[in-house]
Amino acid sequence: MAWDFETDPEYQKVLDWADEFVRDQVEPLDLVWPHQQFTPLTGKRREAVDPLKDEVRRQGLWATHLGPELGGQGYGQLKLALLNEILGRSQWAPIIFGCQAPDTGNAEIIAHYGTQEQKDRYLRPLLDGELFSCYSMTEPHAGADPTLFTTRAVRDGDDWVINGWKFFSSNAKTASFLIVMVVTNPDVSAYQGMSMFLVPTDTPGVKIVRNVGLHGERDNEGSHALIHYDNVRVPDEALLGGEGKAFVIAQTRLGGGRIHHAMRTIGLARKALDMMCERALSRETQGSKLADKQFVQGYIADSYAQLLQFRLMVLYTAWEIDRYNDYKLVRKDIAAVKVVMPTVLHDIAWRAMQIHGALGVTNEMPFLGMVTGAAVMGLADGPTEVHKTTVARQVLRDHRPTDDTWPTEWIPRKREAARARFADYLEAEVGNQ
Ligand SMILES: Cc1cc2nc3c(=O)[nH]c(=O)nc-3n(C[C@H](O)[C@H](O)[C@H](O)COP(=O)(O)OP(=O)(O)OC[C@H]3O[C@@H](n4cnc5c(N)ncnc54)[C@H](O)[C@@H]3O)c2cc1C
Repeated sequence: MAWDFETDPEYQKVLDWADEFVRDQVEPLDLVWPHQQFTPLTGKRREAVDPLKDEVRRQGLWATHLGPELGGQGYGQLKLALLNEILGRSQWAPIIFGCQAPDTGNAEIIAHYGTQEQKDRYLRPLLDGELFSCYSMTEPHAGADPTLFTTRAVRDGDDWVINGWKFFSSNAKTASFLIVMVVTNPDVSAYQGMSMFLVPTDTPGVKIVRNVGLHGERDNEGSHALIHYDNVRVPDEALLGGEGKAFVIAQTRLGGGRIHHAMRTIGLARKALDMMCERALSRETQGSKLADKQFVQGYIADSYAQLLQFRLMVLYTAWEIDRYNDYKLVRKDIAAVKVVMPTVLHDIAWRAMQIHGALGVTNEMPFLGMVTGAAVMGLADGPTEVHKTTVARQVLRDHRPTDDTWPTEWIPRKREAARARFADYLEAEVGNQ
């Protein structure tokens, strides 16, 4: 009987430490340096942040998403899930613990597919938290369907020359290098004809045209770059994982990235639920506490149930990844987690915002940021509709059609069969009447 919902007491102590550390030491960074977690550390920010990272290292919690050979603890996805749900409360926490997206996914693919030289040059400093990276895949005219990408790399002697446009390349403005997905052979299917390159951001021809912001951010102060790759020349050694391997690599990257987002989303949604409960117990109107109103109780009960369902789903999927050690085998459940994640965060944040009244929609409370975050989750790493299609296809694979006009579960035929099976007893019953 292997099913077990308990955390081993030793690891629970580690989680308790992390929880207190994030609340006391890390969350204040969100308030003094909001949205600056991907800006390289200098001056006072470095003085404040480095000791926190050192403390995490001392506790053995740095980069826990990676195996020991890469400087992590090799905790696996289930333990990481329990930690990540604590980190999800804070923008800065993943940086302080060395496990922030998109760098985790980028590190993972360099670890899997990179040459030794690529690992020395990019992976090691990335894992040390000394530089940032960017995954440059989406194009202005095409996102959800990568087979429509047109950015090209053409061989020229020992080099490749890249030309084209990429959109929503998050963190490009502070990243030291870009992982760019391009067409290298237009004469075969996109699944064989696309490749990935590691391109230092300061390579001549890499032009950040504008930094698109999310709602509420000021013009050109966003983090999602529109990039023109204008005759960007890179050597053959910049190719990651070999020619034509882009789709295989992308799947490795996105599988991990999606489940890690989901783990952190549990923490954020729980924060919203905690806030909802505190407000319900504190605010009084029309003769009783909000907590006594049935509508509000409905909000709390629905939120609790949604969060519990989601959390169990994420933990189960994390357990599956550890067990099979292959994202492809867990694709259906990763996609299902990705599908429900935006709704869970949206619904819980929205209800929490509503019961905070006017204060809830102000910039003095975090709810609208969470709601925007939920909308982003329905798009980043692929739109919900596409993931639903993946889930449905995988589910359908385990089913077969029937040649009969009537469905297998058609009751009249099943009843007839059941009656035939129990005929002796039914006759006896009739006889007794
Ligand atoms: C905050 C944020 C950060 C991001 N970071 C990165 C990044 O770092 N690097 C990167 O490369 N990209 C990044 N993206 C881009 C993201 O991957 C794309 O937005 C996503 O793949 C969708 O592409 P699109 O925006 O071009 O939408 P489209 O492909 O134009 O799709 C638009 C809409 O059409 C519908 N749709 C699309 N396909 C289907 C379908 N098969 N069936 C039914 N309906 C469908 C969906 O409603 C979808 O939202 C980021 C996006 C966001 C919002």
